[in-house]
Amino acid sequence: MFNGEKVLDIHGHHSTPPQFRAYAYNLIALRTPMGSRLTITDEAMGEAMARHLKILDERSVDVQFISPRPVAMMHWEQPNLVEHWTMTTNDVIHQTVGLHPTRFRGVAQLPQVSVKYSPDTSNCLAELERCVKELGFIAATLNPDPAGDRQTPGMNDPYWFPLYEKAQELKTPLIVHASISRDPRITIIPHNYQYNFMTEQSLATLLLENSDVFTRYPELKIIICHCGGTLSRFIPRAQSSGIAGGGQVGISTRAPAHIEEHEWSDNLFFDTCSYDQDFLETALKQRGVSQMMFGTEAPGSGTGVLNPDTGKPADDMVPVIDRISFLTADDKKMLFSETTKKVFALYKE
Ligand SMILES: [Zn+2]
Repeated sequence: MFNGEKVLDIHGHHSTPPQFRAYAYNLIALRTPMGSRLTITDEAMGEAMARHLKILDERSVDVQFISPRPVAMMHWEQPNLVEHWTMTTNDVIHQTVGLHPTRFRGVAQLPQVSVKYSPDTSNCLAELERCVKELGFIAATLNPDPAGDRQTPGMNDPYWFPLYEKAQELKTPLIVHASISRDPRITIIPHNYQYNFMTEQSLATLLLENSDVFTRYPELKIIICHCGGTLSRFIPRAQSSGIAGGGQVGISTRAPAHIEEHEWSDNLFFDTCSYDQDFLETALKQRGVSQMMFGTEAPGSGTGVLNPDTGKPADDMVPVIDRISFLTADDKKMLFSETTKKVFALYKE
């Protein structure tokens, strides 16, 4: 809770018992979907979620929207394995939400595959519909580069339109979160998937900002994780002196002064999942407070790291946002719950 209001965290990945990963290993090793579906007892799931819930309690998070672990989505595998694994993952998320209905809401994995297997995203629609209509999920995770080979068309491309159309119809926001990369240049970088998040999410932001996607799909909501990747190093043109000359190829040139000029301020959003306060402050200034919503990714990469400024774990983000001096009480209320309730149309208290 924050000032008597529930804190909604749009960015969480589920915790599972060891048999979940073991099932995945067997699927990959045998290279064929198994005849029987994975069954995890509620007791085993409860043990796996105990630490997760304790961490949410310690971070003042009341409700978290949980999605798959992005590095375990296996979108780079052959389609029949991806389809089976995706349904298995979504069923386990559904089980988790069912065990703790006041603490979690489901965010679906989609059976995304390499563009060489599917010419567009129409293969994802049936599972999205199942998750929303049968399992009660309120959003889905979108991986901009499912094969990890940077060959998937950009998020402005008609390749994505079937998914956009279905998401708009179902009132289901799409949360952009990248996964692994097979780019050989980055393999020596420790935790190179984190670098890949930055690359793919920045590209997604730029392509959506500079396209007609939201003119085509005016009710579509897209949220890009980790503040949208990278930020701009430029002074926005609307605030410049008008001196002629030079060109600007942005890394997101958006600024609060620009918001009214674009048609996507009702469509494109970002989460606050940056553990570095300086970066987060700049993101809030460049994106605009009204375009951002609270996300922690806890438990995850920030759980075991101490923030020296707050003396708390890095992913304990409520105190970080609370100490940002330029945010008003209304701004914080927007970040912690109001914008999220507006954007996630299927969310119910
Ligand atoms: Zn994440």
